[in-house]
Amino acid sequence: MRYIIIISLCLGLSSFYFVPSEELTIKIYTHLKINALQITVNAGKYIVIADGNLVTETSGESNLKFIVINDSIELLRQDEKLGRYRFIKLKGDALSELKLKLINPDRKPRLYQNDINLSVENGYLRLLNSVTLDNYIAGVTEAEAGSRSNQEFYKVQAILARTFALAHINKHVAEGFSLCDQVHCQAYYGKPKDLSIFIAVDETKGKVVVDDNLNLIVAAFHSNSGGQTANSEDVWGAHTAYLRSVKDSFSIKMPNSKWERKMPADDWLTYLKLKHNYPTENQEAKTEALNFKQDSRKVYLEASNIKVPLKNVRTDLQLKSTFFSIYPLSPDTIVFKGRGYGHGLGMCQEGAMRMTKLGYSYQEVLNFYYRNVQLIDMKKLSFFRDE
Ligand SMILES: [Zn+2]
Repeated sequence: MRYIIIISLCLGLSSFYFVPSEELTIKIYTHLKINALQITVNAGKYIVIADGNLVTETSGESNLKFIVINDSIELLRQDEKLGRYRFIKLKGDALSELKLKLINPDRKPRLYQNDINLSVENGYLRLLNSVTLDNYIAGVTEAEAGSRSNQEFYKVQAILARTFALAHINKHVAEGFSLCDQVHCQAYYGKPKDLSIFIAVDETKGKVVVDDNLNLIVAAFHSNSGGQTANSEDVWGAHTAYLRSVKDSFSIKMPNSKWERKMPADDWLTYLKLKHNYPTENQEAKTEALNFKQDSRKVYLEASNIKVPLKNVRTDLQLKSTFFSIYPLSPDTIVFKGRGYGHGLGMCQEGAMRMTKLGYSYQEVLNFYYRNVQLIDMKKLSFFRDE
């Protein structure tokens, strides 16, 4: 039985999203120009359909090679040429997975579950992975959370990955797929190595985070808040009710809670003057710039009606966060002593990890970092109907 979910999201305008509930199409290796690759079946059985015709089937004993020749793909089985095609689909059964090894460029193999579609785009292989929602969520959970986390933290990441996926299901629809595998959408590198992630995905099956209007939330998260998360308007400009600044003691003493950066004082002052017209010639303003302090998060460095947005400073100077104080180190050198890593919005991953180690549940973690949200089954957002 197959369902279509229709999700209505309020993102300014109400729109309708049509999603086969069990399958998403993800463009993989989005950032690479691929000329050749090899596939070996790792589990289950695949049939190979090329330009609409069944060409071969395989269940693991042989490998398949795919090489771009002009605007078509040469398909080889155990180095025997089977033909040249425009579109090749590897269609697996429910438990199927394959090992995909890029040959040119050379990359370590990855495991992908479910189906792979190959075609040629601008002279290179275009690879789409049609994958069940749960298998995709498991892959994203490991890519975003790492593979050495605890089960409760995996559940938190799985719920956020599902929430993001459903909220952005049409992000690449004009290009013929749902989501890419880069951080532009969500990082996804195929099947996770830590198989316990599948249990976390299953134990939170269908759960998504919604705000008090039952809209899927913008599931923002970052590495470390430095002890305080940020307000959405201070980072993205727009006020979002559930992305509020919270004091976050769970994140301190974690690996990314502190950073330092030395800089010549003149470089800092020159940057402020040239980029922000900051009045460095004014002694009081200069002293403020060289001794700027944040006990709690500030949004600007200010002097004489000039406001320097810290988010711009962070981007321009490639700092780990906007949550820094400045100390003189010598007459010519200053040091930025910073807290946290990332934009500071929503969930702090290291804080959430700490919370789950201390015994907090995934519900408690999500309610700590996102204000007034609730967890609901995604089917409650949706109309299901038989096709
Ligand atoms: Zn994308």
